[in-house]
Amino acid sequence: MATRDYYDVLGVDRDASDSEIKKAYRKMALKYHPDKNPGDEAAERHFKEAAEAYEILSDSEKRKIYDTHGHDGLSGMGGGGGFSDIEDIFRNFGDIFGGGGGIFGDIFGGGQGAARRGESLRAHVTISLEAAASGTSKTIRLRRKVHCGPCSGSGAAAGSRPVTCNTCSGRGQVLRSQGFFSVRSACPTCQGQGEIIENPCKTCQGAGLEQKNEEIEIEIPAGVEEGMILRVTGRGNEGARGVPAGDLQVVIGYERHAFFQRVDDHVGFELPVSYSQAVLGADLEVPTLEGKAVLTVPPGTQSGEILRMRGMGFPSVHSRRSKGDQLVEVTIEVPKKVSDEQEELLRQLAEIEETEVGARRKGFLDRFKEYFG
Ligand SMILES: [Zn+2]
Ligand SMILES: [Zn+2]
Repeated sequence: MATRDYYDVLGVDRDASDSEIKKAYRKMALKYHPDKNPGDEAAERHFKEAAEAYEILSDSEKRKIYDTHGHDGLSGMGGGGGFSDIEDIFRNFGDIFGGGGGIFGDIFGGGQGAARRGESLRAHVTISLEAAASGTSKTIRLRRKVHCGPCSGSGAAAGSRPVTCNTCSGRGQVLRSQGFFSVRSACPTCQGQGEIIENPCKTCQGAGLEQKNEEIEIEIPAGVEEGMILRVTGRGNEGARGVPAGDLQVVIGYERHAFFQRVDDHVGFELPVSYSQAVLGADLEVPTLEGKAVLTVPPGTQSGEILRMRGMGFPSVHSRRSKGDQLVEVTIEVPKKVSDEQEELLRQLAEIEETEVGARRKGFLDRFKEYFG
């Protein structure tokens, strides 16, 4: 399905204010909300589409990118990918759907009462540039909540079981009428759990969870960029009583490198050469992300010139087929000290240069004479 223009989806002008966008989204969400359209797939599609449009247009940064580059501009930054399910929308806009302060008041049950999943956890890993280029795996040590052993996560003491809540008959939600709508909200007796623990587990005091140190091995894709966040589904905190686990978010950092810097998918470094190498040209051994390689410095290379080694950069993390280059900036080193022999040769060279000056130097000398008369 082609993605429709976000302004069309919400039915607002391109210069609509934040509050107009919010109002338009609220209207759409009320109209297509799954509670009001049970089993209606078209309504669900509209509901998701409106949420996606609102996600982008309510964020001034994402909106600016969308205005300039359209959908393509957003594809690289994890935005505009849409929501995989309705739960996802409630999670993202929990502040809007849930609680009394949101724009929907408590018309919707989402985001209220029992947590819909365990908390996400965040970890940082630092990798070398070489590992970023080739892809790697890393072991992350973290402390996360897992299901309590003695009660297997139920929260009830050994030999007992949680009992179904009478108030909500185990649904976790109660219906109240509020004006025009029939309103769902979290059951006040069981706090949305649907069951009550009469005899809590001693180990976890009924929470159903305990803290545990774990090692998790993660795969880091080739070309991964600094600052990227990799999401490992289900490896955050486990949820109590049958609620799915949260995600683990892994933030990628780079180690400092002795030579290299990454610029987009290119790898850059500075290569010092001598005056004679720059003039005469030379084949020099240089470092690359994959080890040593020979670079031909052509005769007459200027200081600051950039030599390109094609395809020797980073693979793009977005497309396996595209690869950056290695960009070598040549700098001509002027020695602070020279041997007697070098000095002798340089003096001979200087004498020749005095009589056979290059075109640019000759032009300069001419202007110099003219200037001072
Ligand atoms: Zn209940
Ligand atoms: Zn327990």
